[in-house]
Amino acid sequence: MSFEDDETPCTYVGSFPKGFGYGPEEAEIEGPVNPGEEKPRILLMGLRRSGKSSIQKVVFHKVSPNETLFLESTNKIVKDDISNSSFVQFQIWDIPGQIDFFDAAFDSEYIFGGCGALIFVIDAQDDYMEALSRLQMAVTRAHKINESIKFEVFIHKVDGLSDDNKIETQRDILQRATDELNDAGMDNIHLSFHLTSIYDHSIFEAFSKVVQKLIPQLAVLENLLDIVISNSKIEKAFLFDVVSKIYIATDSSPVDMQCYELCCDMIDVVIDMSCIYGVRDIFLSRARDDGAFDNESASFIKLNSGTVLFLREVNKHLALVCILREDGCENRGIIQYNFKCFRAAIQEVFVARNKQANKSTGHPQMDLLVNGQNDDELDSDET
Ligand code: GDP
Repeated sequence: MSFEDDETPCTYVGSFPKGFGYGPEEAEIEGPVNPGEEKPRILLMGLRRSGKSSIQKVVFHKVSPNETLFLESTNKIVKDDISNSSFVQFQIWDIPGQIDFFDAAFDSEYIFGGCGALIFVIDAQDDYMEALSRLQMAVTRAHKINESIKFEVFIHKVDGLSDDNKIETQRDILQRATDELNDAGMDNIHLSFHLTSIYDHSIFEAFSKVVQKLIPQLAVLENLLDIVISNSKIEKAFLFDVVSKIYIATDSSPVDMQCYELCCDMIDVVIDMSCIYGVRDIFLSRARDDGAFDNESASFIKLNSGTVLFLREVNKHLALVCILREDGCENRGIIQYNFKCFRAAIQEVFVARNKQANKSTGHPQMDLLVNGQNDDELDSDET
């Protein structure tokens, strides 16, 4: 089964209605903005034309990869507020490659001080020597100011490289980057490397991993997912931020790229179906601009491979997408019931997080039904 958009190459799926987004586009700034902001910040840095704006547009604004060919290069710091789910609220600052960190106009204390992660984008199709020296400069400067920053290197545009070449480029970049840091006596800095392209799901996967590192409740979410899958005969579960298709948590079994892509496709299909056929209250839906896709949306899709995909909305922004075998979904009622427990537990995580400021403690508990148990009180309200 393929859900590809005819106009986009490879496996890119970008069929969201444009209105299904996070709200206002980015605001441009030329200097520090409101220093009281609390959202964790992700800095996107890299040389000009390395692909920073494209990444931001494709992942968070549903721009198709082909449209990025006509993006203007960034000359100013561009701030983008991402307020998608209650867990994932952050800002992305796209910082032009030519910026001089030692220029008095560049307030590095402020910029790096409130930064959660620094993503450095390296164009793998170009000569990357200059990029590597900029990387080292950025990393050492940022680390001096803020030791808790996570450093992520996106070896980008790898769609243009052969498989062998990808591995070789990654090895070479990793070697040179770590050697330079060691030579500078900064061997305590850890860099994570990701091979990315906007023409497939690798950029979404890489961003997912970066965002997860900024979610303090990640371990709790993973634990909840582990509990729900083991009690529902589910093989793999992802908690997705629906608009960006970033998964903010998954269970502890390893992530297979194909499964992730399948789940992304599932989200597209459900949103498309909801928008086309599911408009229940046309006036309300128009006002909200998101069709009938709401926190009651749910779907089972059976594939001819014997795999079943299950999607259920957790709230307006988050959805649980699961993969299970055909025999695992014999009792959909149990899955639905366990899902409700999961959703209630997630709500408790939100509440606990909010109470944290008041020094509140206590982990959410889930009262799950195990597959095969009596299902008197189950309801199956799938659509
Ligand atoms: P910026 O100056 O770093 O913001 O770079 P842009 O986002 O403007 O991108 C520069 C060029 O790289 C554009 O023509 C994009 O279409 C192209 N580009 C971005 N990402 C990719 C990618 O993953 N693969 C390929 N082949 N080209 C890309």
